[in-house]
Amino acid sequence: MSRAAAFDIKGWCPGVLTPMPSGDGLLVRVRPWAGAFGRAQAAGLADIAERLGNGHLDLTRRANLQIRGLRDEGLGALRGSLDRLGLLDPDAGTEAARNVMVAPLADERTRALALSLTRAIASERRLAALPAKFGWLVDGGGPLSIVGERADVALSVGAADVALAVRGAWLGSVPPDQAVSAAIKLALGERPLMAALHETPVSGARRLGAVGNFFGVGAPFGRLEAAQLRALAATPGLRELRLSPWRALYLDALVEEAETLGLIVDESDPLLRIEACPGAPACASGTVDTRRAARRLAAHGISGTVHVSGCAKGCARPTPADLVLVGTEGRFGVVHRGTARDSFEKIVEPDTL
Ligand code: SF4
Repeated sequence: MSRAAAFDIKGWCPGVLTPMPSGDGLLVRVRPWAGAFGRAQAAGLADIAERLGNGHLDLTRRANLQIRGLRDEGLGALRGSLDRLGLLDPDAGTEAARNVMVAPLADERTRALALSLTRAIASERRLAALPAKFGWLVDGGGPLSIVGERADVALSVGAADVALAVRGAWLGSVPPDQAVSAAIKLALGERPLMAALHETPVSGARRLGAVGNFFGVGAPFGRLEAAQLRALAATPGLRELRLSPWRALYLDALVEEAETLGLIVDESDPLLRIEACPGAPACASGTVDTRRAARRLAAHGISGTVHVSGCAKGCARPTPADLVLVGTEGRFGVVHRGTARDSFEKIVEPDTL
């Protein structure tokens, strides 16, 4: 067994070069460089979603963007358009390996490290043996730090050095110019020379509205429409949109129209406490309209955390929620303080929610 095989992560992720069939057609996942799309890229992605897909986009938990509702015959045009936007990888292996999540408020130093790491990952052939879902994380601290998110190898840029972690365990730190090679060694199961950590990096959390020089907007259930993305890209003064693992985007300009666009800027909005997968008809495994049910629950004023799942797979939330509704043959199974995989306490009709 190779050392890389010690990381046992199953499955694969849909990419531009490896589309995934879904209930509403093919979906592809577009990976930003260093965690951000430029203004022209965002406008181009909105255009692609409308012209070649069904106009629906997803913000994923790995801080990527998915385009939905594509057809086989449109894939050539899709790849050509993404290539012109600088978002097409040369091959599926490179695309899959470029699974690097970057903190939304990362400064230039942190983003430069993320870019160096991404390029090194793409060219380091020994990493090809890693599982397809192997994930990296680059962070620079601050209120929107993402060091609490899942990652196989994490790098946290400090004032003088870069701390390194494997699967959440912080191991030590190295000088910035050694950070990329040390991270790759860790991914390969080797142990680079590291100094003891002075301080363990601390995770931040989602905040919406004005955060530093950025403005955060949440998308209900992580679903963005092409028209919303186009409007965000047209925000006066905008240079880039940064992605996050929290179904929120951070823009370097004030978005005065966010609520008019149907986006969320208030952390107390109940929609933020509800996780809902695409469900039916977007996902072939779903038999219930999850997001319609979720909006009904939000309108009733729910408390605690809620997960509305199209089926027992529970894609939107692997961890327990206070209330879980699970689609089963057009109805909902009810679970309290559990996950979508748990036994139902009862089954209810969607209209009774
Ligand atoms: S939980 Fe089921 S219905 Fe929802 S996206 Fe996953 S597979 Fe589809």
